[in-house]
Parts: sequence; C-alpha cells; structure tokens
Amino acid sequence: MSGTASVVLGTVLRCGPIARSTIARTSGLSPAAVTRACAALTELGLLAEVPQAVPYRGIGRPHVPVDVDTSRHVVAGVHVAHLFSTITLVDLRGRVLVRRTIPHTAADDPHEVLTTAADELLRLHADRFPGHIPIGLGVAAGGWVDPTGGVVVRHASLGWRDVEVAALLTARTGLPVRVDSHARALARAEQLFGAARGRESLLHLFVGNVVDAAIVTAGTTHRGPRSAAGDVAHLALGDPGVRCGCGKRGCLEATVSDRAWAERAHLAGVVRRPSIFDLVDDAVAGSPAARADLVERARVVGRAAAVLFDFLDPEVLVVTEIGTNRLPDCAAALREEVAAMSRASADAVLASSFGEDVLAVAAGAVQLDALYADPLNIRNPVWQGV
Ligand SMILES: [Zn+2]
Repeated sequence: MSGTASVVLGTVLRCGPIARSTIARTSGLSPAAVTRACAALTELGLLAEVPQAVPYRGIGRPHVPVDVDTSRHVVAGVHVAHLFSTITLVDLRGRVLVRRTIPHTAADDPHEVLTTAADELLRLHADRFPGHIPIGLGVAAGGWVDPTGGVVVRHASLGWRDVEVAALLTARTGLPVRVDSHARALARAEQLFGAARGRESLLHLFVGNVVDAAIVTAGTTHRGPRSAAGDVAHLALGDPGVRCGCGKRGCLEATVSDRAWAERAHLAGVVRRPSIFDLVDDAVAGSPAARADLVERARVVGRAAAVLFDFLDPEVLVVTEIGTNRLPDCAAALREEVAAMSRASADAVLASSFGEDVLAVAAGAVQLDALYADPLNIRNPVWQGV
C-alpha cells in the first residue's frame, strides 16, 4: 500500500489535477488500487478533489480529478550557509510560501545557529500560517552530511564537525527532522518539482561557498556507504595557479567558490568589496566588467561540469550557481562550454529551476523527498515550540 500511495501521489504531483482513471492508466496500477490509495491520501489531507478543474462535457459519470492538497500542510526548512541561515515554509508542491534570511551571530557555534533558526521558524509559522500543520523540518547544508544519523559530519567553511542536527532540532521543535546535503536535496527537488521531472538520471553541481555534487541514477540519489558521495571540492578541475587550503593546486572549490571568486574579482578591481552578491548585483545593474567576470566563472564551472558529465553520462546536468541563476549570459556560457567540452547536448544542461528561492527549496525538499517516498508515514505533529 505504501509503495502504491507513493506512485499515486507522485503521479498527481507531476500531472495533477488528474482523474483517478488517468492515474491508473499512467501508472499501470489497477483502478481499485488507485481508488484505495486516493482514499488513504485524502484522509491524511495530502490529496483533494477539485471538481471545478476540468469542465464536464461527457455522458455518464463525471471523473472528478484530484490534486495535491496544498491547503492543509506546510513543510518547514532551514538551510545553513557560510554567513547566514535561510528559514522557510514551503507547500507540498515545493513552492516557497515565505522565507527569511538570518545572519549568523556565532557561525562556529552550531547550537546557537540551529536553535536561533528553529525559534525564528516557530515565530514565522505562528505569524503567517498558523492554520497549516507542519509535517516536518528539513535541514540542508553543504559539505558532508549523513542523512541516516541526521548529522553534519563536516562543513569546512563553518568549521562544523559531527553536529547532531536532527537530535538537537527534534528536541527543540517536536517535529520530525531530516537532514541532507543541499546538493542531493536539490537534485531530488529538480526531479519532483523542477525541470528534471520524470528524468531517471541527473548530475547536479552546486557552486556556492561549498562546491559539491549529487548523482541520481535509476531515479535514486546515490549517497554511498559513508553518505559522502558527490565530494568534488578538491578535484583538480580548477585553475592550476590557485593554491588550496588542502595543500594542492587547482582544486575546484578553491577556484570557483563564492568566496574565492569574489576575492579574485575584488583583487582585479571588478568589485569594491569581496562579495559575490555585490558582484552579481553589479552585473545585473549593467556593469560590463562584472558581467564578463561572472561569464568567465560560468565557463570555468562549465569545463569542470563537462568532465563530470562525461564520467557519469546522465540525462541532464543541473548547475546551481548564483551567476547562472540570475544572468542569462552566464547560463548561455555554461551551456556552450559544457556542450563544447563533453558529449552533452546544450539542451541537457540546465540552470537551477528555483532562482532566488534555491536555498529555501533545498531545505524543504529534504522533507518533501521523504513525504513523496512514503506518504502514508506522515505524522501530524503539534509544533511544541520552545
Ligand atoms: Zn584542495
């Protein structure tokens, strides 16, 4: 029943509003099995009938379509970045209802960072969506994250090691908490709600202050026995002239991370402060130097992505990077570079589907991935607060 419910809810997510008979035809399930799963999902408040969605023109019994019910539940999310956390509430279609940015006051203190974010989320929920039941809390971060234990094993730029995030935040909020790497969470988000819907294989490259990747094959995200899959930070795919903190030269992260690239642009006189946000804002405002600088970054990222693409041969490559997110020139340069340097066709190279919401979607997707995998397992917890 659980597997059937997952297939039904996934089909409704992709195709809804959709008639039950069409779900059966699309999924290959029996009409009786679809009817039973729909009843169970409706009972849980995950599915609802939408009689007005399709005008009835036929003869005989009308097929009332069903859709994902976004009116009853929300998913809470926390994304932890180098300088700030993003807190969010998203609906069951992965749409960001609200998000806030909270600068870290003590980035090296995980307890402080995480409890501050959780407390602000509690207030945000009470202020904005008090009638929506929170299904759970998703936490996403860069670096090495172990979803099984709910632990951030290592986050180099924050200096975090073996932080038991799920245990800490479950105690703080009373919600079920799941933790994953933002690269993996966004790969699933692209499959569930984004441009990679229905694709079986996907390579996702995340370029922020941390640079890491996620690999999806046969519809499943590959974690590896240590949950460390996708660590591309120190592959020699960057500028050989750049020395990395690990002692080697040419590491990808040391070349293209937000901090490294902003520092380089600052030294070159392109931007007044070493801030990637300033650089992108200048480019969006029309600065030719800032734009050219970010196009160059997109090309360096593209050359690295081309090597990874040929190694894995996925259906699609998705790149999350602030320049390609906000500037069409950067997205075009990335696409050109990957297509020129690999077997990928240009239309297999996609910028992130989530624009400025990307970090919030990453956090929400950690929980939504679990919901769509096993929807009958949801609890309807009461947010116990602090
Ligand atoms: Zn290195």
